[in-house]
Amino acid sequence: RSVRESIAGGCRIGIMGGTFNPIHYGHLVAAETARVEFALDKVLFIPTGIPPHKVHHQIANSDLRFAMVEMSIRDNENFIASRIEIDREGPSYTYDTLKALHLLFPEQELFFITGSDALRDILSWREAEGIIGISKIIGASRPGYEIGGFLGELFDRYPYAQNRIFEMEIPALAISSTDIRKRIWNNKSIRYLLPEEVRRFIIENNIYISK
Ligand code: ATP
Ligand code: MG
Repeated sequence: RSVRESIAGGCRIGIMGGTFNPIHYGHLVAAETARVEFALDKVLFIPTGIPPHKVHHQIANSDLRFAMVEMSIRDNENFIASRIEIDREGPSYTYDTLKALHLLFPEQELFFITGSDALRDILSWREAEGIIGISKIIGASRPGYEIGGFLGELFDRYPYAQNRIFEMEIPALAISSTDIRKRIWNNKSIRYLLPEEVRRFIIENNIYISK
């Protein structure tokens, strides 16, 4: 079934964007908490194609990152993996993706889910106001990135943002893809930081071994 066929009119759609290099439990817990707390019908996981800010980092190829996302969410009927950014040429800007999704799903309400680290940069995002206009934003707590004061200032400057941007507390998981990649390079365990099937896939395909 295509992504389009799995989404009915009037749905509330969560959008979980990320490099997913690799996907880990921080992403999955953020998506699941948002699904429940914001009564989302579906959450789309959208791995980036060429991330605009990360072109110099070690990034596994898009098909491998997509495969790891797919295997991680297969057992959740409310989670869907989307290739919309991977299949687009050039860098993927959040605003372009949200615009495309809005055209595809004009009757559905969009909720962009992001960690508090990315949310803090929101004003530097391309087309920040456009993003907030097209989609509501859910900012998941992330250890080390507090945003309470920041949001207060943002709402003072942009009062309309108050019913467009929401904070969401999730169980704290100090897990990052960067840390997982470093662990692999340093021969440390990555067990229980991400789904076991993904761990095996990384090892079998030597995804992050060679620098
Ligand atoms: P990297 O270290 O490569 O940046 P990452 O762990 O930050 O990887 P991303 O793919 O950059 O993962 O993140 C995708 C989205 O998930 C971002 O909005 C990010 O803030 C959020 N996120 C990632 N890890 C967590 C976590 N542990 N808790 C809450 N949100 C998270
Ligand atoms: Mg990140």
